[in-house]
Amino acid sequence: MSLKHPTSRVREQITSLKPYVPGLSIEEIRSRYGCENVIKMASNECALGVSPLVQERIAKMASSVFRYPQGGNPRLVKALAEKHNINEKRIVVGNGSDELIDLLMRVSCNILQDNIVCCKPCFGMYTVQAKICGVQLRQAPLNEDFSIPFVELFALVDEHTKLVFITTPDNPSGYCPSLQDVLDFSEKLPSQCLLVVDEAYMDFAMDNEYGTKYSLLDSGIYRDNIAFLRTFSKSYALAGMRLGYIVLPEELADYLWRARMPFSVNILAEEAGLAALEDIVFYEKSLQVVRTGREQLTKGLKKLGCKVWPSHANFIMFAPPKGNDVATLFEALLKKGFILRPLKSYDLAHLFRITVGTEHENNNFLQTFEKILK
Ligand SMILES: *Cc1c(COP(=O)(O)O)cnc(C)c1O
Repeated sequence: MSLKHPTSRVREQITSLKPYVPGLSIEEIRSRYGCENVIKMASNECALGVSPLVQERIAKMASSVFRYPQGGNPRLVKALAEKHNINEKRIVVGNGSDELIDLLMRVSCNILQDNIVCCKPCFGMYTVQAKICGVQLRQAPLNEDFSIPFVELFALVDEHTKLVFITTPDNPSGYCPSLQDVLDFSEKLPSQCLLVVDEAYMDFAMDNEYGTKYSLLDSGIYRDNIAFLRTFSKSYALAGMRLGYIVLPEELADYLWRARMPFSVNILAEEAGLAALEDIVFYEKSLQVVRTGREQLTKGLKKLGCKVWPSHANFIMFAPPKGNDVATLFEALLKKGFILRPLKSYDLAHLFRITVGTEHENNNFLQTFEKILK
């Protein structure tokens, strides 16, 4: 028997959601095109694989997974507090940054009343979670050079704005605003509004020519209206473990903990995170690979006539030379076993994003790309 009004069982915010379309996997490309060697440069994962110390600890921990994790993940929180030299009470860990973005909205925003402000385009999680949570989304288009439109963002803020999201370095451009610009912006915001600075890629940013950092968190600057999102998915090579954290004012952190699923960070993720923080040699190496690979790809792509945007992240945004279409190039690269990210879903159909690989992978890509280009 069919239901007369099947959708009435589902909230309106949910019926209009489109299914998440994941990128192509290595296995799919292997079987579809018969490529032996597939190189994925699409999802900003770490090119070096998993730290050996992390693998060892996960294996050791396998015999403990019959137990629940310790409530509040205190060992991990303590290690993070030491890393950043901050009070433990300001930290909440989550099942990837994704969980924390969702928590922030559910904790701060009144449904069908409050709004959040972010850039366009931006990380999909901000917009999708806002929709699910029944929170109005207001977006300011990025400036033409992909810098952050602080004036336009501020113009969207009103007494019902609870959260403003900025990503620095930004995804997909790699752009990084100066500390001062972010601080100046934060100081103008009304008191009910929290500025969320998503620093998922901050570890890869180079200090500017004056030796100044780009991270407020790393600079030890505290404001009671700023939160910082960090993840273990990129520089710590743990994307599949799902582990992220947020640093925010103590009072808010307390409420996030109350609203969080009690065991969202599982035993293996916690152990992996601790080991990743310990393995400084691997971490430094992963930063080095990105910094040198970024130069290598930038130079190589420019030599092939591409327009390349300067990046502070572990990826590069670029436009192929005139006369080449991104969708066609994408298919041609897939046939050769290279998965890149065409930026159509960001409304940037003329652009690619490529994740920095190892020196060898970058070289192979550049050689293949040269052959494909007209
Ligand atoms: C990759 C990424 C994250 C990390 O998300 P996780 O859920 O921690 O894997 C967060 N923000 C942005 C902008 C990203 O690109």
